[in-house]
Amino acid sequence: MKIAIYPGTFDPVTNGHLDILERALKLFDKVIITVARNTTKNPFFTEEERIMLLRQVTERYKNVEVDSFRGLLVDYVRQKKAIAVVRGLRAMTDFEYELQMALMNRKLDEKMETIFLMPTEKYTYLSSNVVREIARLGGDVSKFVPPVVLKAFRQKNR
Ligand code: ADP
Repeated sequence: MKIAIYPGTFDPVTNGHLDILERALKLFDKVIITVARNTTKNPFFTEEERIMLLRQVTERYKNVEVDSFRGLLVDYVRQKKAIAVVRGLRAMTDFEYELQMALMNRKLDEKMETIFLMPTEKYTYLSSNVVREIARLGGDVSKFVPPVVLKAFRQKNR
């Protein structure tokens, strides 16, 4: 069974994340989409909210598990017996950071492979940051996130 880990902040999950997830599902038998709990970022949605939203939007996929982790990604990958980590690449701006992370992870565990997948063009400008900013200013984000995320924004902004 080929297992991949798709880690991130997912604050919140967007259609871009789901695009990458669907591509990963074509390559692996199972994908564990996992919320990094120890990020230094100050998230808008709580860990529990982000996990719940991920669960709701991935319900329709077989072979997807939603989880969260603390500590080093390499330890988590080993523990889950995964063969690769999946990350999305939108533009060159993602590349430098992602390359550094991938190579550093390989230093920590030489068996760890990182697979980069590119989303469909229309999602290359999409990020959770931008979606949060538009939602905060009262803009329409319905094209960028699944309906349950839209609802979560409405409840949060009330
Ligand atoms: P992180 O804080 O780890 O970057 P994110 O939730 O922002 O977490 O992103 C998780 C992964 O999904 C990253 O590899 C990121 O590049 C990728 N990603 C985010 N948005 C998109 C998108 N619109 N298209 C493709 N990949 C994306």
